[in-house]
Amino acid sequence: MKLLTKKIIIQENFSIKGVKKMNKEKVIIIGAGPAGLTAGYELLKDTNKYEVIILEESQEIGGISKTVKYNGNRMDIGGHRFFSKDKKVMDFWKELMPIQGENSFDDEKLGRKKPLKHGGPNPNEENRVMLIRNRVSRIYYLKKFFDYPVSMKKETFLNLGLVRTIKAGCSYIKTIFIKKEETSLENFYINRFGKVLYGMFFEKYTEKLWGRPPSQISADWGAQRVKGLSIKAVISDILSKVFKKKNRKVETSLIEEFWYPKYGPGQLWENLSQEFEKLGGKIKKGYTVKNINIKDNKVISVECITGEGKKEIVGDIFISSMPIKDLVEGFKGETVPKEYLEIALGLPYRDFMTVGLLVKKLEIENKTKIKTLGNIVPDCWIYVQEPDVKLGRIQIFNNWSPYMLENPEENVWIGLEYFCNEGDSYWNMSDEEFIKFAIDELEKIGVINRKNVLDAHRERVKKAYPAYFDTYSRMDELINYLNTFDNLYCVGRNGQHRYNNMDHSMVTAFEAVKNIKKNIKTKENIWNVNTEKEYHEAKG
Ligand SMILES: Cc1cc2nc3c(=O)[nH]c(=O)nc-3n(C[C@H](O)[C@H](O)[C@H](O)COP(=O)(O)OP(=O)(O)OC[C@H]3O[C@@H](n4cnc5c(N)ncnc54)[C@H](O)[C@@H]3O)c2cc1C
Repeated sequence: MKLLTKKIIIQENFSIKGVKKMNKEKVIIIGAGPAGLTAGYELLKDTNKYEVIILEESQEIGGISKTVKYNGNRMDIGGHRFFSKDKKVMDFWKELMPIQGENSFDDEKLGRKKPLKHGGPNPNEENRVMLIRNRVSRIYYLKKFFDYPVSMKKETFLNLGLVRTIKAGCSYIKTIFIKKEETSLENFYINRFGKVLYGMFFEKYTEKLWGRPPSQISADWGAQRVKGLSIKAVISDILSKVFKKKNRKVETSLIEEFWYPKYGPGQLWENLSQEFEKLGGKIKKGYTVKNINIKDNKVISVECITGEGKKEIVGDIFISSMPIKDLVEGFKGETVPKEYLEIALGLPYRDFMTVGLLVKKLEIENKTKIKTLGNIVPDCWIYVQEPDVKLGRIQIFNNWSPYMLENPEENVWIGLEYFCNEGDSYWNMSDEEFIKFAIDELEKIGVINRKNVLDAHRERVKKAYPAYFDTYSRMDELINYLNTFDNLYCVGRNGQHRYNNMDHSMVTAFEAVKNIKKNIKTKENIWNVNTEKEYHEAKG
């Protein structure tokens, strides 16, 4: 009877008209974010051996890389640069969304030059266009702007003042001679910047981000995030620019140009979902995978909560981009050994909220030489280092793509990023309360005047950041356990509990699909993505 029910559910939801499924392997993918969509598309693009179904909890496409549409304006959850050192990823992106062949209207108006692609689409006429944007991002501290990463120029020292500059210099020189053991993120930063600069530019921001002081955080995060970045790296980047050194290595944090879809990151993932569906793939939205039935080192089926009740979906192969914590907690059918359950349940996350604020004008002035529409500050995003506010970063969507706004020449559309924990007092505030809180903070640090606010919207994002503390140190044991399930592939950011960007998440999907297609048994190549210590741009 149970079997019959299952069969009816599957046929009701997933039978694909005109497609003979008998000999196909059925692949169930959890999550329609970059990793899940890439895996689905790669499985179907050159073979009809698979029937692929993506189960997505939300009603949206793109996971945390989605674009939110609100009252005619578009909001990026975080500000997603499309950049990868992996040519395959860059090729994949530009095939989906061709590089602009004509200027965007802001570049045209301001006379900004871009390396346009001959024959590429005109963003003023077509939608499926990848824009080339300049990265400008600075630190806001002491109500002044500093370069990110801090650079050795006159303005920096003028902003800091003589006393702070001397202190910073002395403490940096000290680190040349005395290195700390890199047992924490704090020591990682101090070794590269000195204690004083660390205190000014890293300590408070990192604490805002993770909710813990850097002394309690693993140095791995620094190795992942600011790979190779240090005063030495900054200086050598400046020198190689001065001497116009060809093929210079560029550390991840210093990349100055990136691609961005005309309507934000979600546009690319929506396009990919359409391509996936054209190939016969199915996406079931509003399907939350709760239980994962396991037996004899295999996943047999998943059980989902849906708007139409609980559904069980069987499959031959399972690709998961859902958080590892939820995945292992959902294992049913066999008892998960206590030690692995403990690791999975102890994995920490940082949650995130962002407020989109539409304003008539900003109070901070553009004192740079960079021209912008309405002469607003040229930053794509600003790190807020002011210690007396909770605000972490400000995104300025006008500078990501002018097409994100209904009236980019009249208004400024900004995103205010807050790091928090699901269920804490900030998370639990009503939209109205939280928006008021955010406006108060922005006024306090002199960024806006509340009388200029036109519209606002708040988004909550669960598990935005997989964190590297608590049971993360035992992650290898959990990986070994997960690898015992032959037909289960863990991909993506939370799917691997790794600080993966979109490109890394895609590469984990490429690797998983390669293993499935070629019947490769090891999973090592999938887990090895984004683990190298040195990360530099191989090609521009
Ligand atoms: C603030 C911020 C800024 C960022 N900036 C950049 C950037 O500039 N460049 C860059 O490349 N990357 C950036 N990233 C990282 C990027 O967002 C992620 O790497 C990428 O979205 C990860 O893709 P994913 O598919 O692995 O996971 P996700 O995007 O998290 O997608 C997972 C999907 O699975 C679904 N799901 C989860 N649980 C279940 C379940 N139980 N059942 C069914 N479905 C489920 C979710 O709803 C989601 O749609 C940024 C991230 C943040 C938070």
